[in-house]
Amino acid sequence: MSSIPKIVILGAGYGGVLTSLRLQKELNYNEADVTLVNKHDYHYITTHLHMPAAGTDHPDNARVSISKLIDEFKIDFVKSTVVQIRPQDRKVILEDGTLSYDYLIIALGGESETFGIPGMAENAFTIRSINSVRLIREHIEYQFARYKREPHRTDYLTFVVGGAGFTGIEFIGELADRVPDLCKQFDVDRSLVKIINVEAAPSALPGFDPELVEYAMEVLRKKGVTFRIGTAIKECTADGVIVGEGEEIKSQTVIWSGGVRGNRLIEEAGFETMRGRVKVDEHLRAPGHENIYVLGDNSLMFNPEGRPYPPTAQIAMQQGVNCAHNLVASIRNQSLKPFSFSNKGTVASLGKGEAIGMAFGKKYKGRMAAWLKKAIDLRYLFIIGGIPLVLRKGKFL
Ligand SMILES: Cc1cc2nc3c(=O)[nH]c(=O)nc-3n(C[C@H](O)[C@H](O)[C@H](O)COP(=O)(O)OP(=O)(O)OC[C@H]3O[C@@H](n4cnc5c(N)ncnc54)[C@H](O)[C@@H]3O)c2cc1C
Repeated sequence: MSSIPKIVILGAGYGGVLTSLRLQKELNYNEADVTLVNKHDYHYITTHLHMPAAGTDHPDNARVSISKLIDEFKIDFVKSTVVQIRPQDRKVILEDGTLSYDYLIIALGGESETFGIPGMAENAFTIRSINSVRLIREHIEYQFARYKREPHRTDYLTFVVGGAGFTGIEFIGELADRVPDLCKQFDVDRSLVKIINVEAAPSALPGFDPELVEYAMEVLRKKGVTFRIGTAIKECTADGVIVGEGEEIKSQTVIWSGGVRGNRLIEEAGFETMRGRVKVDEHLRAPGHENIYVLGDNSLMFNPEGRPYPPTAQIAMQQGVNCAHNLVASIRNQSLKPFSFSNKGTVASLGKGEAIGMAFGKKYKGRMAAWLKKAIDLRYLFIIGGIPLVLRKGKFL
């Protein structure tokens, strides 16, 4: 190891940004050389992406320039795409160069998991980045415009969302809010527009309190959403989806939110993974690699009952803080702190003024839950950028 250890952080999402912010606070001058690599020069707030995807908010409100978050005198930011991780050589290959490291933090986020459903990867949209949501938003508007040219094509006005997990439910809540505006803008009869949510599991929002799930479905049904719960998508084609026993739902817009996996670069690097996620040790390190930490959607951790924690922003943030602590401790030859997840609760939005949530041991629904969601969003902005970022990006209504 060189005299000043080199720390390389891959990915400026929740895990990577929190690690960077903590390191810049805790490290002393010249104690380590820290480099943050991300494919864009902005951090995107993934938990907000369902809004710009549906067009109920501008994509710029879901991103923050990385230079506004980190202190570039303390952390070198490299805008580039990681193409290979080589643990055996302690190197990371970028599209335009190579970085060597003493400590590596892998926080590249997840990818969509299509479970091998034929045609899904080729024909469906996913809500995963600023670029992907800009495409969805433009595509939805285009369908309304196309329908006006070919009024017999009602499939232009049918929107299928695969998966009734967090992302799918939050997106349909926003889309259902947007549809009346689009109908007005394009002079389209609202009754022609269909939003269909297809979920293979026996219930929407698995893991959520059943009473809250029922409330959520009722709110969304009233906004015009049709649920096909317990119905598997067998195939996705250019003309729609095949569900159940061969029924075709014709649609020019399929949005897949049915699964998340870790990043393929991790598997390609030779780490042992389950769906691209590394089962990390109690200090968040990859087994057999004392100098490699794996965070957020790339990591797999189990709760005391032996069930995997779902990949969330909340756990990625907490891991980032713990990881920074352990990096500083390693450099100073101090003992590491085991990671322990403190679940602060979960809130799912159902569109404007409506949400459901479980927090502080209580259930919330309706406007109260929507306020809670807003408070969580504002708290995150405060954590990463203080009051100036809250004032710049926070929405208060
Ligand atoms: C629509 C939606 C809503 C959600 N809502 C919630 C919610 O309400 N609450 C909650 O707790 N969780 C929510 N989640 C889950 C949460 O967003 C993720 O668990 C969280 O983002 C994981 O953080 P991360 O740091 O692992 O990765 P990410 O935040 O995904 O960050 C990964 C970063 O790595 C970069 N990157 C990827 N590949 C490369 C590469 N090859 N080279 C360079 N850079 C790369 C990406 O650009 C990105 O900046 C939601 C997810 C989605 C999609």
